[in-house]
Amino acid sequence: MHFAKLGGCMDLRNLGEFGLIKRIRKWTASPNPALVQGIGDDVAVMEMGNKALLATTDILIEDIHFDRSWIDPYRLGKKSLMVNLSDIAAMGGTPKYFLVSLGLPKHLSLSYISRFYRGIKEGAKRYRVDLVGGDTSLAEKTTISICLLGEGRTKDLIFRRGARVGDDLFVSGTLGDSALGLKILQEKKVRVKSLRLVEKHLSPCPRVELGQALAEHRCATAMIDVSDGLLGDTHHLLEESGVGAMVWEERIPLSRSYRAIIPLDSVDPYQTALSGGEDYELLFTASPRKRETISTLSRALRIPITRIGKILPRNEKLRIVRKNGRVDSPSRLGFDHFG
Ligand code: ADP
Ligand code: MG
Repeated sequence: MHFAKLGGCMDLRNLGEFGLIKRIRKWTASPNPALVQGIGDDVAVMEMGNKALLATTDILIEDIHFDRSWIDPYRLGKKSLMVNLSDIAAMGGTPKYFLVSLGLPKHLSLSYISRFYRGIKEGAKRYRVDLVGGDTSLAEKTTISICLLGEGRTKDLIFRRGARVGDDLFVSGTLGDSALGLKILQEKKVRVKSLRLVEKHLSPCPRVELGQALAEHRCATAMIDVSDGLLGDTHHLLEESGVGAMVWEERIPLSRSYRAIIPLDSVDPYQTALSGGEDYELLFTASPRKRETISTLSRALRIPITRIGKILPRNEKLRIVRKNGRVDSPSRLGFDHFG
């Protein structure tokens, strides 16, 4: 009764994106034994014979996720596919086929759509995936929804739920570049020195090969891609694993381009790297015994991998060790569509 009443006056502003997903997960929980992973990870995992089918979908909406004055249709097409590939990368799986559903306003030119598909095709070629279908409809704003399918073996896949107390916490690449690139675009302050950051925002590179290598070498206990920001995605991984963590702020990898815009001696230089979204790097946990293997993989693939934290018992929640040694529990975790 009490909950029904509470439910009645709730709306998306106080529930938030992830509060809503929790509700949907509760309403729709399935007892199907072939369903290895439903709602709650980067992809859904279904047993199909001796293999696992992976499925993920992401939506991009004009004026919410992109602005047509910033991103050309080629990059938009490519990015729409890349963000889905990143979710399969986060499981260590192999992407295979995808479907593209489009909502399009009438005034859009054929040339725009053809350049969009050139971007899609380029991305598909690079990651060896095939477009097999989709859907098309009239819409007020350009809306792109891609559903990507992939495969793997359940025992090799890396879920969000496997982190153990004592594990190290690692992240690939650098963080905050995309969010900074977006800010530069919004403020119309694109300069030569900020081009790399803007490009990181417009043309993300999913870490598919790294994800697969971590799975193949059984390095990681849990993994997620960083799409909502480091704090938000660390929180998702911790929640699914039922653990806490300590993150050392000063260890967060920042690119030279980031530091050229936000110098390390400025006020709170890590803020954007902690909460900014769309990095599409991999965040994973691993036993300290795997440190050597992880550095070898990082060198072989030429992808920087940085140890930024440690997994703690659940009651410790998420703690950030600041530059001055103060330990904080972040109140705002990252991007929320309804927040
Ligand atoms: P990601 O950031 O990796 O794309 P999300 O935060 O979008 O993941 O989603 C988290 C989980 O919730 C995923 O398992 C996703 O499939 C699921 N999910 C998101 N929105 C919905 C929805 N409207 N209905 C059912 N499941 C959803
Ligand atoms: Mg993800």
